[in-house]
Amino acid sequence: MKDIPALFGCMVFNDKVMQERLSKSAYQAVMRTKEDGRSLDPSVAAEVASAMKDWAIEKGATHFTHWFQPMTGITAEKHDSFISPTAGGQVIMEFSGKELIKGESDASSFPSGGLRATFEARGYTAWDATSYAFIKDDTLYIPTAFCSYGGEALDKKTPLLRSMEALNKQVLRVLRLFGHENVTMVRTTVGPEQEYFLIDKEMYDRRKDLINTGRTLFGARPSKGQELHDHYYGAIKSRVAAYMRDLDEELWKLGVLCKTEHNEGAPAQHEMAPIFNTANIAADHDQLTMELMKKVAARHNLVCLLHEKPFAGVNGSGKHNNWSISTNTGVNLLEPGDTPHENAQFLLFLCAVIKAVDEYQDMLRVSIASAGNDHRLGAQEAPPAVVSIFLGDELTAILESLENGTAYATKEQVQMRVGVHTLPRFPKDTTDRNRTSPFAFTGNKFEFRMLGSSQPVSEPNVVLNTAVASSLDEFATELEGAEDFNGALGALIRRVIKQHKRIIFNGNGYDEAWTEEAKRRGLLNLPTTADCLPCYILPKNIALFEKYKVYSEAEMRSRYDIYLTNYAKVMHIEAHTMVSMAQKDIVPAVIRYGQELAQAICAKRAAMPDLPLTAEETLLTEVNTLTNELSTCLAALRECLAVAEQPDRDPLALAEYYRDVVIPAMNALRAAADGLEMLVAKDLWPFPSYGDMLFSVR
Ligand code: ADP
Ligand code: MG
Repeated sequence: MKDIPALFGCMVFNDKVMQERLSKSAYQAVMRTKEDGRSLDPSVAAEVASAMKDWAIEKGATHFTHWFQPMTGITAEKHDSFISPTAGGQVIMEFSGKELIKGESDASSFPSGGLRATFEARGYTAWDATSYAFIKDDTLYIPTAFCSYGGEALDKKTPLLRSMEALNKQVLRVLRLFGHENVTMVRTTVGPEQEYFLIDKEMYDRRKDLINTGRTLFGARPSKGQELHDHYYGAIKSRVAAYMRDLDEELWKLGVLCKTEHNEGAPAQHEMAPIFNTANIAADHDQLTMELMKKVAARHNLVCLLHEKPFAGVNGSGKHNNWSISTNTGVNLLEPGDTPHENAQFLLFLCAVIKAVDEYQDMLRVSIASAGNDHRLGAQEAPPAVVSIFLGDELTAILESLENGTAYATKEQVQMRVGVHTLPRFPKDTTDRNRTSPFAFTGNKFEFRMLGSSQPVSEPNVVLNTAVASSLDEFATELEGAEDFNGALGALIRRVIKQHKRIIFNGNGYDEAWTEEAKRRGLLNLPTTADCLPCYILPKNIALFEKYKVYSEAEMRSRYDIYLTNYAKVMHIEAHTMVSMAQKDIVPAVIRYGQELAQAICAKRAAMPDLPLTAEETLLTEVNTLTNELSTCLAALRECLAVAEQPDRDPLALAEYYRDVVIPAMNALRAAADGLEMLVAKDLWPFPSYGDMLFSVR
């Protein structure tokens, strides 16, 4: 039996370790920094660095690294050893306060969207004391923010921390109005559920598309897919179970609270959900989780696919971002209360979210946009590309009666007058769970379900935090000036419901009628990345983020540029990989097969001239027709790519060109190739089939 409590966090420089190893004053200084984000006094930093180093060396570490999250979507690190030369050719192990607090790195190879060019090539990493340092691969990892010389954020962590700060400020204003003087800090909490596929390494190695792009670009549908619904929550196969146990342990050591693991809807698809944490730490842990999912898989001769749509025709993978706001006194502000007073406060926070999601639907959509996620949204397996909120029937009925000033009948049919003073007890458990909603209230938190499986959670939370901060700012300003607080509160809630109820939708999001209905309601439907990205730089959105100092206009324009360029790059790699696979693997295979058939026909003819050869001839004709089709499609895709690669194309026009011209050309090529896969002898087909990949792990 393993001692899990002892194992948990054993590689983390957490509060307990700090309390043991730091002087009382240094420990308190670090705690204060954690609470209010102020920088540490240099002498304290020196003490912390020294304690960290001693602890890390005892655990076998020889190196340290500032660990950061550039705009590539994955993490970056540059290792330095602790060694420092002394007289006589000896070394000692050293780590200074300065090295802990600030690092310098060449930023020129990371995407900066033009920000760096305007300033200088150097980038700086700054210790984020709110997230614990940890040891991995004999290296001390120090979570850091990454910015340019001028202080512009070049990463995903900085804006997240800024947005948490913005929200904190506005929530505290609102809480004062409700008399909560004891709350000094609130934090957003996030619990991301992560979906992934596991396939055999040997299969993976034979698929250039998986290696280059993370998804299959060719592949005929298997005869069995997920239609029997026999995988979801099904018994976990022993190789997968061994992987999950191993993954749990590795993550526990790093203090990641992985909790739930089960099979998902598609064959070979699984899910891991950690227990929620402060948004910033959850984002760091999510990065670690994705990295370790891949690493641990390699040890089991498996490959973990985090792509949003590795296989056409079976469900893709997403990430559910469970989100709430918590006070330092331990209260979840999205938990409906037991008293009318508590519920009035709950309703105000609920309204803040409703207003935020309605006003910034475009930004929420953009925050989860990627080439990979375009395959999921609206494909009857993930939420549609239209953003809406699910509240459940009961909560919606309560809001309706509030809006209309009518009586609300609880389930027990006890008639109550609904005013802010006499709110009924709220349903604490939304039993009517809705899986098709992009943004669902699930009892005491919201679940934003549009995220792609491979994306870091920072961006969507930046948008949520900032948009909700903006709602609360408006509310606080209005209520702070009110003479009759309760009257003003009731009026405000009614007004917000009236203005923003169009965003509430409790029905089936997969239903086509909803697309029509959403249009009538004036909600945005932005099906692809190229459609939604321009929203990123709309004046209203720039104004929002500038107001709360989460992004400057320059930072937003740079990010817009990075996203557009990145989209084009992904499409470019996919299209080229297709061309190469078709040309070098598929065409030779089908020609060989055609030749085999032709030879068989000739041989049979020579042996018995009158023998009817219907099977061979039909097959050869079909193969020949599709081969010609394949060749035409291949030439067409090549031509499109030549146009896409013309120099100096406007990034948005290029993204639209990929959407409108290149993707349809890729689809046509795939259709011909998949048709051939169904005809050609298995031993000649150059890649493992969908069936091989999806059902090989036992
Ligand atoms: P389901 O699959 O039904 O959505 P899970 O239990 O798999 O539910 O996941 C729910 C997730 O929500 C978990 O990661 C959980 O820790 C997280 N969660 C619960 N409460 C909160 C909260 N207050 N804030 C953020 N996340 C939360
Ligand atoms: Mg969920």
